[in-house]
Amino acid sequence: MKRVSPIGKASIGCGPLIQPLSETSRPLRQQIFERVRAAGQMARVQLARELQISPASVTTITSELIEAGLIEEVQTLREGETARGRPAVALRVPPNRRLVVGIKLSDREHTAVLVDFAGNLIAGEAIPRSPGAMALEGILDAAERLLDRVCAKGGVSRDRVEALGLGVPGFVDCDSGVVHWSPILSSRHVPLQDALRARLGRTVFVDNDANLVTLAELWFGAGRRLSDFAVVTIEHGLGMGFVINHRIYRGARGMGMELGHTKVQLDGALCRCGQRGCLEAYVADYALVREAQTALNLPLGEMQSVGVMLESLFDHAKAGNAAARSIFRRAGRYLAVGLSNIVNLFDPALIILSGERMRYDYLYASETLSEMHAMMLDTGRDAPQIETHAWGDLLWAHGAAALALHELTEQLLGPSREMAAQ
Ligand SMILES: [Zn+2]
Repeated sequence: MKRVSPIGKASIGCGPLIQPLSETSRPLRQQIFERVRAAGQMARVQLARELQISPASVTTITSELIEAGLIEEVQTLREGETARGRPAVALRVPPNRRLVVGIKLSDREHTAVLVDFAGNLIAGEAIPRSPGAMALEGILDAAERLLDRVCAKGGVSRDRVEALGLGVPGFVDCDSGVVHWSPILSSRHVPLQDALRARLGRTVFVDNDANLVTLAELWFGAGRRLSDFAVVTIEHGLGMGFVINHRIYRGARGMGMELGHTKVQLDGALCRCGQRGCLEAYVADYALVREAQTALNLPLGEMQSVGVMLESLFDHAKAGNAAARSIFRRAGRYLAVGLSNIVNLFDPALIILSGERMRYDYLYASETLSEMHAMMLDTGRDAPQIETHAWGDLLWAHGAAALALHELTEQLLGPSREMAAQ
């Protein structure tokens, strides 16, 4: 471990060294655009009030944005007025202009949505697939086929799509677009973003699936009004996305928040990552299935699908089978450990439990929540709100589209554009 003196030389200054054009100083035109898009419609006078800038500045910047086709004027009624009143003018992001596609590739099905820059859904598509890892070429083919199908369904030419967000399960470095490991890819350290960009000839952004669900909540769901919240995804693995100050937190090297691989037991159950005692080795689907094989007396070699096994385990638990109930109960207790750790570390306003099988209420029973409360620091404050959200068909793909919307906005209006122009 490197030893450094805690006190630096006075001549080099003190205080955080903030980059000149970092997140803290987003250009005004980006702030204005994002406020208009988030509100749906907003008048210039309200923009000036909310951003605490002069009406003249708003007029200048919004004229530039209108000129660039990024926003447009729309007639609206003044508050409290009838249809006969003189219409006021508000601003909005023009619908059906600047299109992005979000694609989620997974073990069981591939999904895609086509949305415009205002966030309106134009078309969605889902293609079932048989599980298993694929070579990079197969992944590229699948993404291209989905892009073509969702564009055809939306009645638009593929050339109109400006950016594509792609989500895959596994360990993804969002900054470089390299997938270090994924259950759907047969090799490791795959530069998926560059490969897909080369194949499709357009901007591509890649992220992992837990971050996509979190982005979907942040852009389209319960997280829109919250500055700090967590999403815990429970499926084949256990994932987490975390929003801090309205932005996804990804860690210094883009790979943070691997809640599933935090250790809850020394030398404990074997995890898919090769280590022992990880939280997901007790809570994820495969952990329940591993125990179900023993509890339901399934003959060795008779491998059923994960979904069928879990359904059967759930049915046995409902019918009063003690072993089946204890499997869910134990998983729920470990989940409580994970949730209390999140609360003690981050103190979020809301934790969203998100998954396909949210109806397995044994996992989310009141016992799980009271155990979570018991493991939270006793400071007399209320526990954060916990909500369970079942996944809609296109939720992941919406998150992928949000990724594309965010990154495209940064490219068009963000600080890096200003740097490039200098
Ligand atoms: Zn692990």
